[in-house]
Order: sequence, then C-alpha cells, then structure tokens
Amino acid sequence: MPKQTNLHCSFCGRSRDEVKILIAGQEGHICENCIEHAQEIIMQELQVRDENLTTQYKFNIRKPIEIKNYLDQYVIGQEDAKKILSVAVYNHYKRITRKQQTDDVEIEKSNIIMVGETGTGKTLLAKTIAKLLNVPFAIVDATVFTEAGYVGEDVESMLTRLLQACNYDVAAAEKGIVFIDEIDKIARKGDNPSITRDVSGEGVQQGLLKMLEGTEVLVPPQGGRKHPEQKMIKINTTNILFICGGAFDGIDKVIARRINTNAIGFNVNKEEQEQQRKNLLQFVNAQDMRAFGLIPELLGRLPVVTYLNPLTAETLRLILTEPKNSLIKQYTRLFELEGIKLTVDEDVLEFMVTKALEFKLGARGLRSISEHILTDAMFELPGSNKKELHLTLDYATKKFDKSKMSKLKVA
Ligand code: ADP
Repeated sequence: MPKQTNLHCSFCGRSRDEVKILIAGQEGHICENCIEHAQEIIMQELQVRDENLTTQYKFNIRKPIEIKNYLDQYVIGQEDAKKILSVAVYNHYKRITRKQQTDDVEIEKSNIIMVGETGTGKTLLAKTIAKLLNVPFAIVDATVFTEAGYVGEDVESMLTRLLQACNYDVAAAEKGIVFIDEIDKIARKGDNPSITRDVSGEGVQQGLLKMLEGTEVLVPPQGGRKHPEQKMIKINTTNILFICGGAFDGIDKVIARRINTNAIGFNVNKEEQEQQRKNLLQFVNAQDMRAFGLIPELLGRLPVVTYLNPLTAETLRLILTEPKNSLIKQYTRLFELEGIKLTVDEDVLEFMVTKALEFKLGARGLRSISEHILTDAMFELPGSNKKELHLTLDYATKKFDKSKMSKLKVA
C-alpha cells in the first residue's frame, strides 16, 4: 500500500506524524490517545450505572483511624477491639474495591471473631461499622441453625436476612456484613456418646465453612427451608464480611491453663501478673476456642480474633451519658419532644449503674432500669402542663423499688 501522508485521527484530528498508532476503521481512523480517552469514558459510565443500581448503598470506605474515631462516638472503651476491627474492616473493603490485576497476590478475607461477655458491645460494634460504611447489615443467632434436613433453619437463611435488610438489592447484599451471635453455642458436642448426630453443633459449623470463605449460595427469599417451588436468589458470599461473637463462658480457665503452661507473664512482676489474670480474655487465641469446641476449619476462616473487656462501674456510668445516642440523651430528646426539660442528678446515674451491676445485666440492664424509673413520668407528663422533670435519687429509688424488677432476686 502506498504511504498516505494525509491520514489523521477522525476523533482528535491529529495527523499520522503526531501519533504513535492509528487504527483504521471502515470510514475513519482512531489514535491511541483517543482510544485511552474513550476507555476512561466507558469505565466511568459503567461505574455510574453500577452505582445507580445500588444508590441506597453507595459505600463509604474509611481509613482505619476514621473507623476507630467513629466507633469512639458510639462505643465506650474496648480500645483493642475497636482498633483490630477498624483494620480488619478496612482491609476487607480494600480487598473488595481494588482493581482486579492479573498476577495479583490474593488477599484473603478477614472475617472476625469477637470474644466477650454478653452485653459488652459486640453487636453494637458490628452494627456501628455497618452504619458508617453504609452497607447492609444482618444479625443472626447461631443457635437457630441446624444441619440441612433437620428441624431448625438452614445456615443460608442468614443471607435471607441480609437481603431483607437491603430490600433484595443483591449487589448491595453481596458487600454487606453479617453478625453471627452466640457462635460459641454451636460448639462440637463430639465426646458425648449419647448424641448420635451433632446436627446443631459440628453440622452447623461444617455448613458455615463454605459460606464464610466465599461461595455461591442459593438463598430462599422468604427464609425458612428450601423447597422446590420457591424461586431461589443466587448470592456470592466472597465479599460479605462475617463477624462472629460469643461469650465463651469459662474460656478464661482454658486461657489460664495455656498461659501457665507457656509461662507467659514469667518476666512481669506480681502486680502485673495479677492484672493479667483479671482479664485473661486479652490473650485469647484460636487454640482456646478450639478447646471450646469450634472446629479448626471454622477458626481458620475467622482469622481476626479480638476480645471485649467486661464492663466496669466506670464504663457503665460513661455508657449512660457519653455515646452519641446514649440512653440519657435519648430520654432527654423524648421529653424534649413533649416540651419537657429533663435533668438527671449524678447520684441517679450512679444508682442505675449499681443496680445494673447488682442484677448482673451489663449495659443492657441500664435500659430496663431507666425504663422502670421513667415509665410513670413518660405516662403522666405528656399532656400535662409540666415543663420540667428533675430526676433526684429519692425519686429514682422510689420508682425503682416499686417496679417489678426490684422484686427479682439477684442470683
Ligand atoms: P453483646 O453483643 O456483646 O451481647 P450489645 O452490643 O448488644 O452486646 O450491647 C447491648 C447494649 O448495651 C447496646 O445496645 C448498647 O446500648 C450497650 N452497650 C454495651 N456495651 C457498650 C459499650 N462499650 N459502649 C456503649 N454502649 C454499650
């Protein structure tokens, strides 16, 4: 073909000499610059369409420090757990959003397991993270699951909850967070000869393995058992973050045993040893949970392990007033909506804490105790012409002593 010097890009008009590559089409040419530019437009356009599909869930990736700062506004204490969660969650979402590269290092999922007494903030932490990142969130209780075919729920039904939480937006659900509570209650009951088949223990753990790792699951949209007439929704769990929580009652003894044999604390003084013994949970690892009946395969899929401290009187006191949506702030707002100004004396707050500790109810107890103290006022004041409610210790004690709760015996 004779050399044509008047060739030029039909898009930008650059001549043959000004570009490296000129590709011929049927009636024109395109240069490498315009191809690159067009590629960018295509990527942007596709991304916008993807985002439009899940407009409600345009997700906000935050740096670990930002996640931790946000958690600080809602959760008191639990510094280690917050830090570990912030990093794990950040890495997880970084893993999902990074561009696919061919020879890339595979980043594994950072599913999380949290160990801590009930009512110490495990669910609250998971829920708060989901809120910050703006991803769908579901809480499920591991104890309702049984191995497929037995009375109970299939493990797949946890994905039904996730779908329901985001109005069946599959793309959003596939980037959501599932919090599995009471994971310790599905421990293997292996050594018990009276159990012929461990359908709610090891059977469920086996069922969870693939889902935690990442697989395609057929989910019944209305939950319950799968049955042939129901149309299933296919969900890929590769990018779903699973956070498990459990109280693991008695795990401190397992940890103590391990620590003694490993002679940790050998180099620290008596006082420090005592301190460490008080909160052994901080040393928890997968090995301890294994001794507790979780199978190693499951623990392998929950690589991030963290713990929550038991709540002290001091923490409970802060929980009452400090979080952004603390109980006292919520009650103040409720009364404010009625045009009533609520003030609470410091000794009332201390009274609530003492009662919560006495009844061994943790932070959850603060809510019921406050309800008992405030129900009468919330019943009588709306519609009255009172503009102020001043909670004194005398008032609080009277109302609480009159309540059903005070009649309960403390174990
Ligand atoms: P868990 O999942 O550990 O059993 P939750 O997270 O459900 O406990 O906590 C129960 C309630 O107690 C929460 O809704 C929250 O109001 C309160 N709470 C517990 N721990 C904390 C904490 N560290 N900071 C603030 N509030 C807390």
